[in-house]
Amino acid sequence: MTTRDDTKTRLDALRVEIERRNPAQPEFHQAVHEVLDTLAPVLAARPEYAEPGLIERLCEPERQVIFRVPWQDDQGRVHVNRGFRVEFNSALGPYKGGLRFHPSVNLGIIKFLGFEQIFKNALTGLGIGGGKGGSDFDPHGRSDAEIMRFCQSFMTELYRHIGEHTDVPAGDIGVGGREIGYLFGQYRRITNRWEAGVLTGKGAGWGGSAIRPEATGYGSVLFAAAMLRERGEDLEGQTAVVSGSGNVAIYTVEKLLALGANPLTCSDSSGYVVDDKGIDVELLKQIKEVERGRISEYAERRGASARFVPGGRVWEVPADVALPSATQNELDENDAAALVRNGVKAVAEGANMPTTPEAVHLFQRAGVAFGPGKAANAGGVAVSALEMAQNHARTAWSPTKVEEELAHIMSAIHTTCHETAERYGAPGDYVTGANIAGFERVADAMLAQGVI
Ligand code: NDP
Repeated sequence: MTTRDDTKTRLDALRVEIERRNPAQPEFHQAVHEVLDTLAPVLAARPEYAEPGLIERLCEPERQVIFRVPWQDDQGRVHVNRGFRVEFNSALGPYKGGLRFHPSVNLGIIKFLGFEQIFKNALTGLGIGGGKGGSDFDPHGRSDAEIMRFCQSFMTELYRHIGEHTDVPAGDIGVGGREIGYLFGQYRRITNRWEAGVLTGKGAGWGGSAIRPEATGYGSVLFAAAMLRERGEDLEGQTAVVSGSGNVAIYTVEKLLALGANPLTCSDSSGYVVDDKGIDVELLKQIKEVERGRISEYAERRGASARFVPGGRVWEVPADVALPSATQNELDENDAAALVRNGVKAVAEGANMPTTPEAVHLFQRAGVAFGPGKAANAGGVAVSALEMAQNHARTAWSPTKVEEELAHIMSAIHTTCHETAERYGAPGDYVTGANIAGFERVADAMLAQGVI
């Protein structure tokens, strides 16, 4: 009979062993710790999950690919970047997860993202495993031709590891519709196959799903609304702070406006803008999606209601709801304290692991509804899986149908997390609910499929 004490001792030992075997990967350690910290109740209640080796297998990627990406800039100079694809877990379906192009990318970052993706994908209820990839390439300031040459070189190695039944990448930081286009073109050229389901986030006219660009941001707002509803409150009329100004942030702002909330901020790595009248989403799209400009230009063009705060953090602006939508560890304990002081009611993570563990605990102690990324931002990968389904059926659903499916999936994820947390003695704790519910689904599949 396994007691809670035995389980805790074993999980502590596993944590130490994972740090020893994966040195200098703090983000990966952080993601694993967060999950292991919440699993003790389910391991004690369900002895089959405490089987030796199950959690150890879950924490070790099935495959990790690292490769050279040489490319030439517009002046003919040769650059060498590093490419990654971590295929973490395929118990539920083909590996699925985005590609990130950002200078901060290293193996530990990709592993943290791939690990999170396993549970997130499980929570969607769809048949997708977990993976992630990317490169330390910095797309900022590069011409279209340079981006194309980089994507072609990246795919020239990646193509041999992916496929519609094997591993299906999508976008993430630094990888949007333009990059997916170049990557898909090179895959098609090398393989001589029209294999639409090999990548998601494609353009609307050539296999992309309606609502995929919007899905992550829309989904995280729906999750925030569901958490507020659970507390008898409505999102309508609430103020919100949003960080980032990329894909997730833009469609978070759009959905907040559509539901009658008032998004006050957005940001990039140079600082943030605060707009007393609420962010003008069309101006934001023009500057960020069309012109690929900086966020300071928003304040210059918007008029008196908006100002740019160089180097500042959006969390200092008072609001009812916070939606961190830029990058990992962008909201720390001091930021959380400021938000709580200013009366924040709900936090939904549009980005992956944007909130530090200390900040999460502070929110939970203060009674703030906290929706972790693996639940709150799962709408993106869910619509990616719907894109795969449309590709397999050689069909295209209407935007209305996809949006209905997205709303249904986000509502189901909220209910699953909420009910699982209650069942395991942690009512209102969406972190525990998400981790345990995702874990149960993957663990059941792994146990059924034997020791592989
Ligand atoms: P984009 O590249 O479209 O936008 C990223 C935004 O975050 C930009 O405004 C960027 O500013 C800012 N940012 C990135 N890195 C940093 C940094 N180190 N410091 C400060 N600001 C930073 O990416 P996405 O919107 O697609 O992704 C945002 C987050 O959402 C990521 O955590 C991603 O993993 C997560 N996510 C994305 C999904 C998707 O479907 N795209 C799905 C689920 C999660 P700047 O331009 O100045 O760098």
